[in-house]
Parts: sequence; C-alpha cells; structure tokens
Amino acid sequence: MGLNNTLGFLVCRLRILLLMILIIIIVAWTTMYLFESTRYTSRHKIKAGTFWRVAVHEEKKEDKSKTAMEDTTKGLDVKTCPQLSTNLKGILELSFNPSLTIEEVQSKNPLVENGVYQPESCRAQQRVAILIPHRNREKHLLYLLDNLHPFLQRQQLEYGIYVIHQAGNMKFNRAKLLNIGYLEALKEKKWDCFIFHDVDLVPENDFNLYLCDSEPKHLVVGRNATGYRLRYKGYFGGVSAMTRDQFAKVNGYSNNYWGWGGEDDDLRQRVVLQNMKVVRPFQDIGRYTMIFHKRDNGNEVNHKRMQLLDKVSKVWMADGLNSCSYKLLSTEHNPLYINFTVDIGGPDA
Ligand code: BGC
Repeated sequence: MGLNNTLGFLVCRLRILLLMILIIIIVAWTTMYLFESTRYTSRHKIKAGTFWRVAVHEEKKEDKSKTAMEDTTKGLDVKTCPQLSTNLKGILELSFNPSLTIEEVQSKNPLVENGVYQPESCRAQQRVAILIPHRNREKHLLYLLDNLHPFLQRQQLEYGIYVIHQAGNMKFNRAKLLNIGYLEALKEKKWDCFIFHDVDLVPENDFNLYLCDSEPKHLVVGRNATGYRLRYKGYFGGVSAMTRDQFAKVNGYSNNYWGWGGEDDDLRQRVVLQNMKVVRPFQDIGRYTMIFHKRDNGNEVNHKRMQLLDKVSKVWMADGLNSCSYKLLSTEHNPLYINFTVDIGGPDA
C-alpha cells in the first residue's frame, strides 16, 4: 500500500514534469519564431509609413471594382506583397561589364514592359517611380539599369524607371529635370513614391528598400569613394525618396540651380521648413558604389549656390513645381525605361 502510494506519487510528478517541459518547448519555439520574423524589420528600422499607407489605401478604395476586375482577369493573388520580400539577398555582387549591351540587360529582365514592372504573385506595397536626370552618361545608365532592375524586382515593387534627358548644351540642372520627371511621370500613372536617383550610384544591398516612408528618406548613407561615411549631417543628395504628397508639400526642387551643387541642400531646407525630418537606413544598408567619372562639361560647380541657399525660406513657395517651365521634346517608351527629352532653357532664360 505504502509502495503503491509512493509509485503513484512519482508517476504523477513525472507527468507534471513532462507537461512542463512540453510547455517550455512550445513557448521557446514560439518566441524564436516571432523573433526571427521581426528581426530584419527592427534591425533595418522599417516603419509602417502611415503617410503613404493612407494614400495608397484611399486610392485602392476609389477604384476597388476596377482593381478587383483586373486582378481576377489576370488570375492574380491579390494579397499585398510583404514589406520585406523573401527574395532579398543582402550585399550584392555588382556588375560593371564594359562590353555589356542594352539587349543583354533586356533579356535578363523579360518581365519589364516599357520600363515598368509589376510583381506577378502579389500587389506591391507602393507604386514607385525612379527618376534619373541624364546627359552624356549612356554607359553609367546601362550599368545602373543592369543592377537596378533585378534589385527592384527582388523587392517586389511596382516600379517604373524614368530617365529625364536634358537636351542641348546649357548648364546641367539636375533639380529641374527631377521636377519635370515628377510632373510627367504622374501623367502616366498615379505613383505613390518617387526616388530621385543619380545615374552613377549603384546600391550595394537590397535591404535598402526603394519605398517611401512617413518622412522623406535619404538612401545614400555612404559610398565607396568616401569610405562609406555620411558626407555631412544634413546631406540629402545622391538618392532620396519622397512620397507624392511630401514632394508636393515642399513645392518640389528649386529650378534655379544650374551646374553642380546645392539643389539637394535646398530640398532639405524645404523639408525642414515643412516640419518634416529626414530618415535614413542603417550604415551597412545604405551603401552605394559610385561609378568613377570626371566632372562633366556643362556641370561645373555652381558658385552661386550659397547665395541661393540663403533665400530658400523666402522663395520656395514661388520657385519649384509650380513654376517649372520646359518643353517636352519627346517621350519614348523603351523596353527598360521611359525617356523624356526636355528643353529646359538656361540660367538666363
Ligand atoms: C553640395 C551638395 C553636394 C554635397 C556633397 C555640397 O557642398 O552643395 O549639392 O551633394 O556637397 O558633395
């Protein structure tokens, strides 16, 4: 009797112990799973970006029936793509093959149609227009297209690449070309997000998301040429991302920066004046390779830039998207990008 009681007691204890071990295993497994799935999100500071979410959501509501119809006809899974695609690879091996041809890049990107791509299996988080100001940098453009197309597709974005080509020999005006890119691209599609992109900067890590955030985003934390360090605290050049509304709110870029420098600092001042702040990815993510080149003819340093920068708060409302005058000479829908060729006049025009 005494022995039976002791045995019964031990069996009962053993069962409780086993049950506790089971519970511990389940709790540990669940915690690990949750940690894994949020690890990248917190590490790379990806915010839910309420600003664009609202914009995208409202638009979806507007043409709900149309979208639903299109989705059924194409037989698409209408689920929204995750913010962090499972196709991301991290640090990339960039390629700059001197004998590369545009046909090769085309054949590597069969799903890009007239410069535009849409994920096949889900609805992209945002519709993103990449704007690239351009003149006499055909080789750089080819390298950028070669690296950027697969990069953006891995991020599962709906995107279009726009090249804004300045015709003629007047001083180059990067900012005005970007304003034109914004205005003309919006005539083609209601893009949610705009990436203002130098032609000679190639991203090295595909966790650097080409998505807009609730605040304007600066994507070039560092580049190979400068030891991957931020050039200065307020630097906002190279590659930056703003939603349609953020850019409209600051009246776009100034149209008055002819030659190299200042236009990006001006845009940052506009951002600050509108009580927005610049956000950036982590240093190991916001890395770029700059394709080496000499200063172009027609893009000499703009020595007037400091004077212009002193006046931003007084002039921004009348100088920008609302005063951007130009002549659109042609629009070409090439297989890998849309090209706007524009006459933007010159400093004294
Ligand atoms: C210029 C900017 C430029 C930066 C980094 C500044 O002095 O005003 O336009 O992006 O230097 O080179």
